Amino acid sequence: MFHLADIYVVGHKSPDTDSVAAAISYANLKNQLGLPDVYIPAAAGEINNETTFVLEHFSVPAPEVVTDAKGKKIILVDHNEVGQALDNIMDAELIEVVDHHKIGDIQTGSPIFFHNEPVGSTATIISAMYDQFNVSITKEMAGVMISAILSDTVLFKSPTCTDKDKEEVAKLAKIIGEDYEEYGIAMLSAKSDVSSKTARDIVKGDYKHFDFAGTKAGVGQIEVMDMDVLADRRQEILDDMEAVRKEEGLDFVLIMLTDVMKEASDLLFVGSPVEKFEQAFEGKIENDSIYKEGVLSRKKQVVPPLEAAFK
Ligand code: MN
Ligand code: MN
Repeated sequence: MFHLADIYVVGHKSPDTDSVAAAISYANLKNQLGLPDVYIPAAAGEINNETTFVLEHFSVPAPEVVTDAKGKKIILVDHNEVGQALDNIMDAELIEVVDHHKIGDIQTGSPIFFHNEPVGSTATIISAMYDQFNVSITKEMAGVMISAILSDTVLFKSPTCTDKDKEEVAKLAKIIGEDYEEYGIAMLSAKSDVSSKTARDIVKGDYKHFDFAGTKAGVGQIEVMDMDVLADRRQEILDDMEAVRKEEGLDFVLIMLTDVMKEASDLLFVGSPVEKFEQAFEGKIENDSIYKEGVLSRKKQVVPPLEAAFK
């Protein structure tokens, strides 16, 4: 078949497992639909420890890193905000969006395929699309997609998890032929290994920019199996948050130190306005943070209260 164009399928900056898995699995699906274009999975930055574990576990090659969208044909997965997309996204030709976040500020000059569902991960949507298009799922693709669902839903504990996520995991678990709970814990443990990480790796590992009614913020998250592994690095992390805040000209930086087992997050805050942060999380800042039981999700439990506080 003749080859029309290269279309890059790419997730957000500071790529997480869902961003990378969605790019790989959606490019794989599109390449099997008999279309004239070639779909290339890409990552908008260096892949993290957890994703490296996943790709090695299922023997899937890492996608190429693409940081500039200018002049390219692009499918965005796992995000739809300009601030989270690769550079010059408005100078690219946007072909499709497949996502599970709130609708952001991406704009196009012509109609495009835009698929957004309020489910736990982008991989959940793509896994269901394989069935929709009658394409069988290989063990490799099942592996990356199940990993993304388990990672984004924190093994189903996150309030973002839906029945559809659980159904897709049950389906994919049969294909990978492994105990998915055991596998999921091993995968999250790979993420929890912070010993080799610098403070900057911790702050920027899973980090996104937000604009709350003109207040510019960076909001990151690190998930660990046991918060104690971060206890003696807290000040180092706070110092680096302040450095990032200054470098990026932000009003505040908030990092969620999330304990997956205790199902709680310590919300570290540097910058201002402190009173909006306290209002959003209904507490008083102590030792530069507010500790919140039951908070695991940036998307559902951290961004919405901040948006409400800044209204
Ligand atoms: Mn993501
Ligand atoms: Mn996601």
